[in-house]
Amino acid sequence: QSCLGIMGGGQLGRMFAHAAQSLGYRVAVLEPEAGCPAAQVAEHHVGTGYEDPDGLAALSALSRHVTTEFENVPADSLKALAMRGFVAPAGDCVSIAQDRLVEKHFFTRCGAQTGVYPAPHWGIADQKDVASASETLFPGILKTVRMGYDGKGQVRVRDREELAAAFAAMRGQVCVLEKMLPLAYEVSVLTARGVDGAAEVYPIAENVHRDGILFTTLVPSPHVSPDVAEKAQKAALDIIGELGYVGVLCIEFFVLQDGSLVVNEMAPRPHNSGHYTIDACVTSQFEQQVRTLAQLPLGDVRQHSPAAMLNLLGDVWFEPDSEIAREPAWDKVLALPGANLHLYGKAEARRARKMGHITFVAATLAEAQLALAQACDILGIVAPELA
Ligand code: ATP
Ligand code: MG
Ligand code: MG
Repeated sequence: QSCLGIMGGGQLGRMFAHAAQSLGYRVAVLEPEAGCPAAQVAEHHVGTGYEDPDGLAALSALSRHVTTEFENVPADSLKALAMRGFVAPAGDCVSIAQDRLVEKHFFTRCGAQTGVYPAPHWGIADQKDVASASETLFPGILKTVRMGYDGKGQVRVRDREELAAAFAAMRGQVCVLEKMLPLAYEVSVLTARGVDGAAEVYPIAENVHRDGILFTTLVPSPHVSPDVAEKAQKAALDIIGELGYVGVLCIEFFVLQDGSLVVNEMAPRPHNSGHYTIDACVTSQFEQQVRTLAQLPLGDVRQHSPAAMLNLLGDVWFEPDSEIAREPAWDKVLALPGANLHLYGKAEARRARKMGHITFVAATLAEAQLALAQACDILGIVAPELA
């Protein structure tokens, strides 16, 4: 029985391990944190840092096939592993997704083919760039080019003065200023591509964020038109092909109020907005990751049930005005129709920390949304507005 390796031990690694094990593989996780979500379920845990040569050698000795569950894994570590075995996605692809400016240049280059471009933007590396940013980029959002996620490392700026102050507060980190766009809604497109170049694309997922963190994902998207859906799916397939990517790639898009499509960013791994695939598609995004890594054929991406996914942040573990975590009323949530609860085994609940998710499946999206709203009431979450 062979073993698949993964860099990173969070929930994405845990769900990868579940999928790998159900296909008969053992799993080795490299992650410095003891007791992390993935190490709880994997057969092997290498507990070193992501750059430790001994750790990388140990992971290679356990598994000749290695993937990653987070985009900030050092690209050099992926390249080092690639000298000893098969690594997917490749370090070169991951490093594009690690830097928003490099990523935007890449998307712009793909634009001739995809017809979809990133938001107007300007790299901000020093005060000179602050002075030369076009007036048309205000109001805008200043984002660090590296390491940002869940809206961290982002500041909204109304004018150049606010930009200067926000950039100063970034303490020398290279940033990008993006024009604030009039969003109608947000979607993501999950794709997978094998070593043989065969690629598949999942249905369009519609995402709602709260406080910069993914809140719900609805599939099918209630807003997207067939035209926009087709354009986004084609763009995603063009992008994954252009990268020569092997693995699962998720691309986030904005749909603007005039109906036009803008590409935001990509994640070189399964994505939070793709968790619904576990319960609502023939092949989950994690099984797809396993298949691409093991050089097996891709699975069927067909969705068999409408789905509404609710993220469970640590906030749900706290009563209002209490600092003592307690277990939420899962018995009540699990009594709702079509509920699929996934908890990540994180030792400690913290506010804004992703602790789990629930996917509601039903015969219609409206029924799944209704169950999701009921779950919000049970869990003390302000329910989403219905589209
Ligand atoms: P993730 O957790 O998805 O990796 P992130 O921290 O990398 O998020 P972005 O996806 O770039 O950040 O931005 C977070 C959210 O902020 C977007 O989903 C969108 O709601 C909003 N946003 C970002 N850029 C813009 C923009 N140019 N115009 C309008 N809204 C934006
Ligand atoms: Mg991001
Ligand atoms: Mg994002």
